[in-house]
Amino acid sequence: METESCFRLRKPVLAVVSAPSGAGKSTLCGMLLREFSGFVYSVSCTTRAPRGAERDGVDYHFITEEEFQNKVRAGEFLECAGVHGFHYGTLRSAVERALCAGKSVLMDIDVKGAAQVREKVFALPPDSAVRSGFVDVFINVPSLDDLRNRLYKRGEDSAETIEKRLENAAGEIAESRSFGNVVVNDDLRLAYARFREIIVAAGKGAEPV
Ligand code: 5GP
Repeated sequence: METESCFRLRKPVLAVVSAPSGAGKSTLCGMLLREFSGFVYSVSCTTRAPRGAERDGVDYHFITEEEFQNKVRAGEFLECAGVHGFHYGTLRSAVERALCAGKSVLMDIDVKGAAQVREKVFALPPDSAVRSGFVDVFINVPSLDDLRNRLYKRGEDSAETIEKRLENAAGEIAESRSFGNVVVNDDLRLAYARFREIIVAAGKGAEPV
């Protein structure tokens, strides 16, 4: 898919995307961010160490446990959760800034964080722009065996980490029923087409730029 920033949504969206790790969520989010302009990717804070080519401030804000707890106390997170033994959180200020500037926001967060955002959004008046532009998508894998193969093939994590992630995956998949939309990533092209369709519908259509 060679399309680069060819479209923009007619209305901004607040898109929350969750998946068990290894389901292809980052790939699908990357494809969306390349094809559509007007999106801000919400860069989360995490207490885990950078992996591979990850860059501070781009993939995550890599912070210490103490810094994380200070931000929790200061109410700086829109949502936060413990995932795979580390803490992750979305900075409220970054999301608010983007939405106020009329941008769409893409949040790649876990199912517990998604539930917190959903609760906050559904507490807003039904006609608020944030609520009407809210869309949540769970990217699923065809099976847990398939997920195990993908994680080992990706080669980024130790066997111990992979087994821990698989243990969590079953619980995450059970949470998929709370999401408004589920996309099974069996074939990347088809999964992207479905994902794109969901986002475009939430954005009340798309237009070329
Ligand atoms: P990873 O460490 O593999 O990058 O991410 C592990 C999990 O943490 C993924 O499911 C990812 O979506 C989730 N995650 C990343 N950032 C956040 C965040 O800000 N909040 C929450 N709740 N989960 C996050």
